[in-house]
Amino acid sequence: MNCALSQLLNAFAPRVIILCCYYCAYRWLRVLLARMNTRTQQAALAGLVLFVVLIIAIGLHYYTTNAAQTPSLVAGNFKEESLEDIRFGINLSDFKVLNHVVKPGEIFSEILGKYNVAYQTIHFLAKESEDIFSIRKIKAGNQCTVLCEQTQNGLVPKKMIYEASKVDFVVFNLDDSLYIYRGQNKVQRVQREVSGVINSSLYETLEQNDISPALAVRMAEIFAWSIDFYKIQQGDKFKVVYDEDFSGDESVGIGEIKAVLFNSGGKDYYAFYFAKDAAHEGDYYDQDGNSMKKQFLKSPVKFSHISSKFSMKRFHPVTKRWKAHLGTDYAAPHGTPILATADGVVEEAQFKSANGNYVKIRHNGEYKTQYLHMSKIAKGMKRGTRVKQGEVIGYVGSTGLATGPHVCYRFWKDGQQVDPLRQKLSFSDPLPAPYKKQFMSATAAVRSTLEHITYSEHNIAVQKQKKQDMELLQAKVLADIRQAF
Ligand SMILES: [Zn+2]
Repeated sequence: MNCALSQLLNAFAPRVIILCCYYCAYRWLRVLLARMNTRTQQAALAGLVLFVVLIIAIGLHYYTTNAAQTPSLVAGNFKEESLEDIRFGINLSDFKVLNHVVKPGEIFSEILGKYNVAYQTIHFLAKESEDIFSIRKIKAGNQCTVLCEQTQNGLVPKKMIYEASKVDFVVFNLDDSLYIYRGQNKVQRVQREVSGVINSSLYETLEQNDISPALAVRMAEIFAWSIDFYKIQQGDKFKVVYDEDFSGDESVGIGEIKAVLFNSGGKDYYAFYFAKDAAHEGDYYDQDGNSMKKQFLKSPVKFSHISSKFSMKRFHPVTKRWKAHLGTDYAAPHGTPILATADGVVEEAQFKSANGNYVKIRHNGEYKTQYLHMSKIAKGMKRGTRVKQGEVIGYVGSTGLATGPHVCYRFWKDGQQVDPLRQKLSFSDPLPAPYKKQFMSATAAVRSTLEHITYSEHNIAVQKQKKQDMELLQAKVLADIRQAF
């Protein structure tokens, strides 16, 4: 009561005071006018009219510039009452919403049991759902939303929604009719243009700049043959244009990376996505249309034949034992040049009793190759030497455990020896001439976008500051409004 009275006073006191002021001014004006002669009366009246017009003009200007801000704030205050909250295609404001995170080991019947759903209902839904969604796939950590109705006897669950992923959900209707259906949240694809300067790791830099760390893996794949991502230095920087899918405000995945500029050790590396036509899957090319991937040579020696294939079990001609042969033997005349099958860095170049003279090359984070039984290692080959695809690294011989002149070619993938002939090394060829012009025009727009991105070091800090500024401004406007009334 007391509060209502003070509100009433607050609301009317200013108006009463203003009315009193108007009345005083009117009385005073009349007294003043009565004392003047006609000419000064006219001049005073003209001045008064001008003054009133000026006040109205200022008032109108103030009203129109502030009108744009005020309604949104008012709407914000009453959001809960007037706006619908639609999720999963359901108006959540019709229900009391309970959130439940699936605990480790928790099963469907336990979840619904917690919300007092009848055993028969749970049993029916479990059986009915088999063709729509297997309840055994319910995963710990995922979100369940239980929609209840408030009754005199308490909360009655009406629907349970299980979020299988950030996009897919399943609705279990617990109302009078029991049914199940699957749905998908609306996904919006947005083109993002981002950049970063690395001060710790690429992964951390992405996180600090509010960019999905999944982008690090994708970039490492694209540049696998040109940049050594194990040796990224402080100060290396990047710009990326890519698609990201959002469901509401939440990122649900990365789409295509359209273009990347990666500056590593002061050198610019470009990658552009391009598909020759609808029939071909796209691939990445540098600024001149050269393929980002480099094919391995089929064999390390020209004009040779395979004398022994990679096998998990073979009879060794020297040791006379059955043993795995983790290489491919290419027989060739003594002294035939042995070629590096791809660009890389020499990791080992030495003699060992079984291998004889051999060279091992690291190509990227994934692949290494090794060449055994050389008669001689080529000049200059030592740990750290950079080699180009097709460069001579040694000569065929029969040093170590070998019966005749051949090169035992060993292919390493992620630290394991594998059969290169069975690897899916589906590396694309350089872009044929007719497609080059097409490539240039197709990538023109994204090139210009890339050039216009500036390297940013602290996106997150900037965003935080912007948010703080906005909040301060809103608080100030609100305070002003409260003061005015
Ligand atoms: Zn061999």
